[in-house]
Amino acid sequence: MMIDTKPSFDIHQTETSRLEQVDFENLDFGRVFSDHMFVMEYENGVWQRGKIEPYGPFTMSPASMVFHYGQAIFEGMKAYRSENGDVTLFRPGKNIARFNQSATRMCMPTVPEDIFMEALAALVKLDQNWVPGGDDASLYIRPFMIATDSYVGVKASDKYAFSIFTCPVGAYYKGSVKVKVERKFTRAAEGGTGYAKAAGNYAGSLYPSMLARKEGYDQLIWTDAKNHEYIEESGTMNAMFVVDGTLVSPQTSETILDGVTRNSVLQLAEDLGIPVEIRRITVEELRKGLAVGKVTEAFGVGTAATIKPIDEIGIDGINYPLHASTPSVSSLLLNELDGIRRGKIEDRHNWNIPV
Ligand SMILES: *Cc1c(COP(=O)(O)O)cnc(C)c1O
Repeated sequence: MMIDTKPSFDIHQTETSRLEQVDFENLDFGRVFSDHMFVMEYENGVWQRGKIEPYGPFTMSPASMVFHYGQAIFEGMKAYRSENGDVTLFRPGKNIARFNQSATRMCMPTVPEDIFMEALAALVKLDQNWVPGGDDASLYIRPFMIATDSYVGVKASDKYAFSIFTCPVGAYYKGSVKVKVERKFTRAAEGGTGYAKAAGNYAGSLYPSMLARKEGYDQLIWTDAKNHEYIEESGTMNAMFVVDGTLVSPQTSETILDGVTRNSVLQLAEDLGIPVEIRRITVEELRKGLAVGKVTEAFGVGTAATIKPIDEIGIDGINYPLHASTPSVSSLLLNELDGIRRGKIEDRHNWNIPV
């Protein structure tokens, strides 16, 4: 996307780039922040003029409503460096639309799509030297919105801040992944906020995740809130399984976040002629399928971790290892998805947006 000569916001560039201090060979996920951020405030019923400025702290009142009642939403997306050096955003329109759905659910104002897109493109373009090349590396982009009114009564805030910052990142998970099917705690219930990227959803997932880690698991697979009978998702990744050679994924719902990676992977499976079923999967089906080797693969799909094969699944205290045949379905899909993102495979669905 070309940047307008008259952007809808001001740009204050840093005089002291921190780029030289970054060890791009050893990037931890989400601990290194690029030089600039975008900030735009909402007041008196309208979005004010935004700005790109050096990355730095916010000054906030202790009574800021986000601290008390949790009106906070976010997105996670990535910019990739193609083989030819170009920088592209992957399906940013989907993230913008989802951000606004999250905003509506949390009683927050939506962000005009054109301003959001322009801010993303301008920010990534300005910090384009922060976009790493290399197989697992990319620029993670974190748009978010918080309630900023100073008020202690419970109501929707009148003031908000919308901001975007970016992080050069390497791989999210290193090594193998062992997950536990959670049958006691709940991430999302019908009528709740599970489909929104609302901060509180993640806060509520930390304690059950910590308990699972104590039992030796890396991640949870959540089940439905009513009876813990149906597989939902992994909490930052959607879940997919290979059952008798068919790719199976639970349909998105009020309680399962509609992932951009999931949507893309399902399309690519169709392109590759892999049979796909979008349907509910019971814990029982999974248990039996794992026991007799009908379920050959399980993997999480999400922006941060891309496609992450699961090595072992724990159900009610019994661990079932997975034995994918080679090449695994997940590796075929990852190769396709990554190839498109990095300009090695034709972008036949026009998913890459150049900045
Ligand atoms: C972000 C997220 C995902 C993955 O969505 P992507 O758009 O693919 O990154 C899945 N589940 C939850 C709960 C999430 O927050």
